[in-house]
Amino acid sequence: RQAVYAELRDVEPFTRCGTRIQVMMNAGLRDDLSNLNLVGADGIGLFRTEFQFLVSATLPQRERQLRLYRDVLDAAGDKPVIFRTVDIGGDKAVPYLNSAESELDENPAMGWRALRMALEREGLLKAQARALLEAAAGRSLYVMFPMISEPWEFDAAKAVFDKQLEFLRKQKHLLPEQIHYGAMLEVPSLAEVLDLLIPRVSFLSVGTNDLTQFLFAADRANPKLAERYDWLSPSILRFLRRIAQATVGQPVDLGVCGEMGGRQLEALALMGLGFRRFSITPVSVGPIKELVRQVDLASITEAMNRWLSSPPQDMRASLAKWAAKQGI
Ligand code: PEP
Ligand code: MG
Repeated sequence: RQAVYAELRDVEPFTRCGTRIQVMMNAGLRDDLSNLNLVGADGIGLFRTEFQFLVSATLPQRERQLRLYRDVLDAAGDKPVIFRTVDIGGDKAVPYLNSAESELDENPAMGWRALRMALEREGLLKAQARALLEAAAGRSLYVMFPMISEPWEFDAAKAVFDKQLEFLRKQKHLLPEQIHYGAMLEVPSLAEVLDLLIPRVSFLSVGTNDLTQFLFAADRANPKLAERYDWLSPSILRFLRRIAQATVGQPVDLGVCGEMGGRQLEALALMGLGFRRFSITPVSVGPIKELVRQVDLASITEAMNRWLSSPPQDMRASLAKWAAKQGI
């Protein structure tokens, strides 16, 4: 199989019916970028900027952040990189940011983390905004905000960037050529207000890791629950289909950046629900490209709609049987 994946490295993933599917990869460290061309991904669909914070003994200052972001953009060349602003706090606690507030978190995953924290520690987000805007001077910048529960949080985060952009403009700095702002959709409440969010963002990325945890109220880190709920359950799939349908014909680019998209049957199901962009762990890029080339979108869409109207006993088994029959 390795040889097949190596052959697919420079092949663009089109479905059997001729639709181009974006297969991007997730990253978080400088070294991860070497995988980009190795596996032939379309770009970095999720760059977890908190990794730099998590591996550092002290708060990475703006200059250090800037160097990392610039190196990442240099290494990615013409391929897009979606930088997610820090998702720390809660269970991804860093000692130098620990405070009385985060110690109050009895439920860290649902606590004072990610943007919730960054909007209050404004210095943190300001420094990151400046570093990203400077790193992308003369090129395209993609910024994604994590853990958005209501649209105003997106507005507040973007306002921090706007202010830094204005500052750099006044200082006659070279600015990014284009800036695209997006939101992660990983808190279920956001799905109910997509009509309000979509006009504000240029892209949306569904974080199925957290979304599943919140939909099932099942801690993603608890091994006793790891096998209990299936990604191929009608509740998740119907939820995701609703999100995909809400974006049809809208000027927003929809993708998935959770682990779900890196698994064969799950990715097949997601294509049947309307998803056309995946960002996954690098080792899954080859297998998912291979899958894409065998898929006929009309057939899987029809099958998913049928199963979601009247769910079979075992969705996973039905999907696997169907895929085998299609020669997938
Ligand atoms: C997710 O929640 O699905 C996601 C991609 O982000 P993380 O795993 O970093 O929380
Ligand atoms: Mg998440």
